Amino acid sequence: MPTCPECDVAIDIEEEDLEEGQIVECPECGAELEVVSTNPLEFDLVKDEEEKDDEEEAW
Ligand SMILES: [Zn+2]
Repeated sequence: MPTCPECDVAIDIEEEDLEEGQIVECPECGAELEVVSTNPLEFDLVKDEEEKDDEEEAW
């Protein structure tokens, strides 16, 4: 059974329902996981691309 890369919980999910590139949500921590492989089933953590750097110091 595949595990969440974020919280390491075993994810009980039907392999047949998944396609590569599909995004699923971890039921434990809510992290978005991309299906990088279906055989064997593997997940990769989806990183938020909208990184906001609001720590500008204009002084
Ligand atoms: Zn998780």
